[in-house]
Amino acid sequence: KGDWMNQLELNTMNTDETSQFAERLASFLKAGDVIALEGDLGAGKTTFTKGLAKGLEIKKTVNSPTFTIIKEYKGKLPLYHMDVYRVADAFEDLGFEEYFEGDGVTVVEWAHLIEEQLPHERLTIFLYRGEGDTRKMVLSPMGERYEQLCKEIFR
Ligand code: ADP
Ligand code: MG
Repeated sequence: KGDWMNQLELNTMNTDETSQFAERLASFLKAGDVIALEGDLGAGKTTFTKGLAKGLEIKKTVNSPTFTIIKEYKGKLPLYHMDVYRVADAFEDLGFEEYFEGDGVTVVEWAHLIEEQLPHERLTIFLYRGEGDTRKMVLSPMGERYEQLCKEIFR
């Protein structure tokens, strides 16, 4: 455990700051990366995804995919945006694996709801509402790839 372990928490003061952090994160991502987003309704998961999409040079507007579960966007890398809030059965096979192992970046809102289907190695980001427009983000890397990624982001 290096010093970076202390730096996995960061606070944002407004929507733009959350978006900007995600945009920066995007510049470190590569095909096959999986980002799991956790946090209550309104915590900023979709806002984060929009920023990430901007970083991937996606031109289309990214909206909450609640009713479609999976949306695909073309960018510098493809983005697979999932919101699994309405997945009725945690084990239902909606072909997630193909996305996780695909040639894009996957972002999963409410990821724990399909925990059993997630790749073990992933970057989980917890978002918490603070006072007003403040948010706390806690990054939890699982596996070597994501530990390295976190080191790079905070360097
Ligand atoms: P979720 O997808 O987690 O339900 P959304 O991103 O859809 O959350 O909504 C977050 C809402 O909170 C948006 O209206 C956004 O503008 C607002 N907001 C205010 N401050 C922040 C912040 N610091 N980070 C992210 N969103 C924020
Ligand atoms: Mg959302």
